[in-house]
Amino acid sequence: MSAALTPGHSDVDATVVGGGLVGLAIALGLQDQGRRVVIVDEGDIALRASRGNFGLVWVQGKGDTCADYARLTRLSARQWRAFADDLTDATGIDIQLSQIGGLYICLSDDELQQRQQMLASMRLEHNDDYPFELLDHTALKAKVPAIGPTVAGATWGPEDGHVNPLLLLRAMVERFLQRQGQLLTCGPVTRIEPITGGFRVHAGKQWNESTKVVLAAGLGNKTLAPQVGLSAPLQPNRGQVLIAERVRHFLDYPTGHVRQTGEGTIQCGDSKEDVGFDCGTTTDVLATIAARAVRMFPLLEQVRLVRSWGALRVMTPDGYPIYQQSEQYPGAYLVTCHSGVTLAAAHAGPIAAWIDSGQHPDDFALETFHGQRFSV
Ligand SMILES: Cc1cc2nc3c(=O)[nH]c(=O)nc-3n(C[C@H](O)[C@H](O)[C@H](O)COP(=O)(O)OP(=O)(O)OC[C@H]3O[C@@H](n4cnc5c(N)ncnc54)[C@H](O)[C@@H]3O)c2cc1C
Repeated sequence: MSAALTPGHSDVDATVVGGGLVGLAIALGLQDQGRRVVIVDEGDIALRASRGNFGLVWVQGKGDTCADYARLTRLSARQWRAFADDLTDATGIDIQLSQIGGLYICLSDDELQQRQQMLASMRLEHNDDYPFELLDHTALKAKVPAIGPTVAGATWGPEDGHVNPLLLLRAMVERFLQRQGQLLTCGPVTRIEPITGGFRVHAGKQWNESTKVVLAAGLGNKTLAPQVGLSAPLQPNRGQVLIAERVRHFLDYPTGHVRQTGEGTIQCGDSKEDVGFDCGTTTDVLATIAARAVRMFPLLEQVRLVRSWGALRVMTPDGYPIYQQSEQYPGAYLVTCHSGVTLAAAHAGPIAAWIDSGQHPDDFALETFHGQRFSV
């Protein structure tokens, strides 16, 4: 998949820097608009959230302090089925999308009450158009018989779902290449040079030119953005993940902490740590994740763990995305978020359409996600 950048290669409409979930989704969306796109990616040594995430297409609770983020998330969730079908029809890869609802399991009554209050206030803010249900222990057990006896209950979000994140990444790469996209893994982009009519993107001694450039390099955006008059105040946030061996099917729905994959393995997670660029694992955090999973589903006590990893979330100071065109260098865009699975359909849809044509989405105010909010 590796290739060298072509010096002077200028018949490209857009160069996307970063071939993770965000860059690929934008690239696919630009291809939908008929554009010729090159992705330049640092390569396999890079830190990638896209290879280490939990695979949730998650709606409930997202945007509790930002109504536009809730709208964006729900829009993406609605567009996910068509996005997935297109990937599967074109590549033959079943990315295992299921969107039949999800559960946020609460261990204590206090936790359940707080969660219910948060979702109820979101419902109020969205004029009653915010579906969720509160399930006490009995109602939860009726839905998920394997639930542990000490679990207080859960909130149920009918719009939640999950997907196999690695198959998703693979399908997106294949779809991009099928449509004559070029994916270049020739080292990190080190310099982005504004030139007449576009940008010259340098990776080591190689370069190419295009009319537009989209910065979608995850944590790498922080150093690239200032080169085109943008700012990406991003920080890593580590999440550790545990995988347990395949077991008989017992969990129909994804939960915020535990999900059963299409293959039958159990994925457990949701730790959040501020440890810089360290993507290792620690016994204490993994033990906490495992203990919570066992309390939720006691049958997991007998199940063997098969692997674990740490991966770095790409976080802005308020946790919401940045979608911004450079005022100093029009044609340069910054796209970054911390829910790149959930938002993939929106990135390939309305966000790519905005980059292509300047057309703002109808469902949410794009200005909400301007990076300027961090400079006031
Ligand atoms: C533990 C964990 C669980 C998560 N769970 C979920 C979930 O359930 N649902 C959800 O929606 N999201 C989840 N996320 C978040 C999601 O994975 C990320 O939002 C998404 O992967 C970010 O994609 P990205 O393309 O922005 O970044 P990355 O995946 O980091 O990709 C960035 C890419 O840019 C490249 N790059 C970097 N610098 C340069 C450079 N200078 N030049 C060229 N290329 C460069 C890298 O090689 C990399 O391929 C989770 C994240 C973590 C860590």
